[in-house]
Amino acid sequence: MDIKTTTQTELIDITDRVRAAVRESGVKDGICVISTRHSTGSIIINENERGLRNDILGMLENLIPENKSYAHNQIDNNAHAHLRAVLLGMSETVPVEDGHPVLGTWQSIFFVELDGPRKRTVNIKIVES
Ligand code: ZN
Repeated sequence: MDIKTTTQTELIDITDRVRAAVRESGVKDGICVISTRHSTGSIIINENERGLRNDILGMLENLIPENKSYAHNQIDNNAHAHLRAVLLGMSETVPVEDGHPVLGTWQSIFFVELDGPRKRTVNIKIVES
């Protein structure tokens, strides 16, 4: 799945596209792994509410500020983005039951852009069990 991000940091809801991929796979029971191959992007699952999306980005800024003297910034300028990606992780796994990803009412799947804007790729792997 290709994603074009438009700002430096943002949460992009990809739940509908994951649901569609599970539906198109025909898998009724199994697992769905959503991953990204980028070192400055992440996959997370949480509630898609505007205030919370801003709180998540605010938390990342507080925990890992952009302007600190990071060693990686001697050869690049985005150490904060890598560190935030380490914190959030590069994949999530959800069960598939009755042909649908098992998510709670308030759970959405996000790609998190941490060093945008860029063109990004998310991989969805569905395994039948
Ligand atoms: Zn870098």
